[in-house]
Formats: sequence, C-alpha cells, structure tokens
Amino acid sequence: GDDPVRAAVPQAGDPRLVLLRRVGVVDPASLDDYRATGGYAALRRAFELGPGGVIREVLEAGLVGRGGAAFPTGRKWEATARQFDRPHYLVCNADESEPGTFKDRVVMEGDPYALVEAMTVAGYATGCARGYLYIRGEYPRATRRLEHAIATARARGLLGEDILGQGFAFDIEIRRGAGAYICGEETAIFNSIEGYRGEPRSKPPFPVEKGLFGKPTVVNNVETLVNVLPILEQGAAAYAAVGTGGSTGTKLFCVSGTVQRPGLYELPFGATLGDLLALAGGATGALRAVLLGGAAGAFVRGDELDIPLTFEGTRAAGATLGSGVILVLDDTVELPPFLLRIAEFFRDESCGQCVPCRVGTVRQEEALHRLTKRRSAGDLVLLREVGQAMRDASICGLGQTAWNAVESAIDRLGVFAEEAS
Ligand code: NAD
Ligand code: SF4
Repeated sequence: GDDPVRAAVPQAGDPRLVLLRRVGVVDPASLDDYRATGGYAALRRAFELGPGGVIREVLEAGLVGRGGAAFPTGRKWEATARQFDRPHYLVCNADESEPGTFKDRVVMEGDPYALVEAMTVAGYATGCARGYLYIRGEYPRATRRLEHAIATARARGLLGEDILGQGFAFDIEIRRGAGAYICGEETAIFNSIEGYRGEPRSKPPFPVEKGLFGKPTVVNNVETLVNVLPILEQGAAAYAAVGTGGSTGTKLFCVSGTVQRPGLYELPFGATLGDLLALAGGATGALRAVLLGGAAGAFVRGDELDIPLTFEGTRAAGATLGSGVILVLDDTVELPPFLLRIAEFFRDESCGQCVPCRVGTVRQEEALHRLTKRRSAGDLVLLREVGQAMRDASICGLGQTAWNAVESAIDRLGVFAEEAS
C-alpha cells in the first residue's frame, strides 16, 4: 500500500517474521484486524498463568532489553513485582533517538495494538495500575495511532477498571518528549514526566526500587515489550529455541547509510553481519566500515562481516549491538567529517549536568575539528584522555559512550593513522 511503514520493511509479509508479522499487512487502526491475527491471545495466556507465571516465562525465555543495554527483562520485572512500596509504575521508553534507530517507530506505526497489549501484560505481571508511554515528539504518526489504539482498547474493555472481566485494572497515558536526546535516558524520563528538567538521576537506586514519583518502576523499550507476546503465545521454550544461548529470539535491525536496500529487518539472533548485508543488497560502493550500535556504538571494518549479530558475539568482537543500528559506509564516505558530526551531536545533546561530559564533549569536538584540518599527534593524545575521563566519570550513558565511535574509528579503521606515526 501507500503506507510508508510498509516501505520501511523490505521483508513485509514474510511468514517467518515474528515481531513484524503484522506490520504493513494489517490495518493499524483496526482492533478487529489485530484480534483476527492472534491479538490478545498473549494477555489471555497471562491471566491463566498469573503474574508470577508470566515473569517465570519471561525469565526462562531469556529475554534481554532491546533498548541497547541488554539487561535481563525478567529480572527487572521480578525486582519490581516484589517491592512492597505502592503504587508500581510501568514506563515504556519510546523516545527512540539513537542516530540510525527507527525500529520502535515502525512497530508503533504498523502494529500499535501489539504495544498496548504488551504493556498490559507487563503491568499485570509487575503489579502496575498505570503505564506511561513516553514517545519522542518527532513521531506524530506513531503518537496518533497509539492514541487511537489506546482509546479503542479502553472502549472495548481491554484497558480500564476490569480488563477482560478479570478484575485487573490498568490504563496507559501517553507523554510526548520535546526533542531532547537525553530524555530517552530512563531516569531523565521520570524527571520529564514529573515536570522537571530532563536530567538523568544517579543510579543506584535503580528504577525497580525508586523510579517514577519515587516509586518502584519498570522501564522497558518498545521492542523489548512486544517480544513478550510471542513468549506467551509460543511458550518460553519454543521462543528460546530461536537464536543463540546468550541472545534468544529475533532482533530488529535498522539498516541505513550507503546500502542498496535500507530499512528495518528482522532476523533470528546468530545471523552474521554479512548475512544481513546480503539481505540488504550490499553496500552501494566498496564497503569501508559499518557503525554498529549507533553514535554510542563502534565501527567495524568492511572485512569483519563474519561477526555474529548477537549481544555476546558483538561484545567478543569489541563492538556492541546496542539497539540494532547497522549504519553502512562505503568508500565514498569521508570519515573525519562523519566523526565530527557525531561529536557535534553529543556536544549538542549533553544535558550539562556533570563536568566530564559537559566539558569533554566540547573538547572532543574541538580536537576533531582541528584534526580534520591539520593532523597532530597531540590532539590524538588529548582525544584519548578526554574520552577516558568521559567514560570513567560521567553520570549517565551519554557521557560514558560519547567517545566510543571516535575511539573505534581511530583504533579499528585507522582514521588519522598517518599522524600517529
Ligand atoms: P544500563 O546498563 O545502566 O541499564 C540497563 C537497564 O537495566 C536499566 O533499565 C537499568 O535500570 C537496569 N539495571 C541495571 N542494573 C540493574 C540492577 N542491578 N538492578 C535492577 N535494574 C538494573 O544502561 P542504560 O543507561 O539504561 O542504557 C544504555 C544503552 O542505551 C546503551 O547501550 C545505548 O546503546 C542505548 N541507547 C539507546 C537509544 C535508543 O534510541 N534506543 C538511545 C540512546 C542510548
Ligand atoms: Fe548530562 Fe552528560 Fe552528565 Fe549524562 S553524562 S548527566 S548527559 S552531562
């Protein structure tokens, strides 16, 4: 159809898809379409299992977070569920802003009821009466479709005081971000929802103990949550049979850059980078490098295509899967200006709360700016010192990762190498 969502998924309609099975196929406005294609079977199963049973399934399935950090979802749910302090809150992190990431947008636009159902299951399992869907302000279509899905679900007794007649009360409120990258950091989301500046809080305490309004809070990424549906539909064992020991299930990969068929791909964990690039038609020119994991991630060389796209495989290769960014760079791309753009992004998006990041991101950008004009060994040393200070001493992930991509470009791709000698 004309729906841009379909165009964003080159495999739309492929029967092997799990998370994307409805995307580009069903009418995202139709709850009847959703139910006719298996929708709300997972919630019914959840009611049969009870909250503890749902958490057991999620633990046994080996589900880990898809926002980038790969923390075990079941452990997060279990830790929140056992807190005595009430109420508990659920926050769905839909502030997808990592450069090169667009997976959550496609899911929300193409299959909004899946997220509504998954949040309801998560709320049930962890004892939350209210869920907040924190969505980035630049996603108006996804926001409209979710508003519609939430209102329709509520009108049909799938949200509200007595869901499916099971005596479980749960509802979802949408909150929109206002364009700041840092508001995707989970504790900055809390501040934003509470009406304060979107600045991260120090962890610990972790949100499972003290989160939104100081209460126990589960924060999960959109893709993480929708994985709970196939876990309950198929059972944990069948779900975990796909993928590898350390990375179970399937993963959404955001393929962009100088590549023949950019878009969102879903593959079982374990496929290699080369497999995925072949599916995407390969680079448009000679492959130079791939940025894995986005601006906070790392570059790998064009000859490292045998890296398995799993959390453990990318880690062993000294890279990261992050949230699934596969940004392809062929030999027409000039790397120094590309690195400068990344540095500018972090300088711009640093919230300024802590010194290593506030000052470090400025120093990093300045040094790179000089290096793009005149190469000097001193600036390379400076970059490394500043990068290490940001990594070691920043409060949150932004500052801690702001040097990753630049470091990997220097060490792995040999950018600025002639000056180091
Ligand atoms: P983190 O490792 O600090 O935490 C991951 C999750 O686990 C958090 O929810 C945290 O609360 C929880 N957690 C960690 N230890 C815990 C414990 N002991 N008990 C209970 N809960 C615990 O990472 P983070 O700062 O939340 O996320 C960093 C990641 O975010 C990076 O990998 C980056 O790739 C990714 N990222 C993604 C996007 C995007 O748009 N998807 C944007 C920016 C960054
Ligand atoms: Fe803000 Fe950067 Fe410190 Fe994070 S690391 S709290 S973004 S200044």
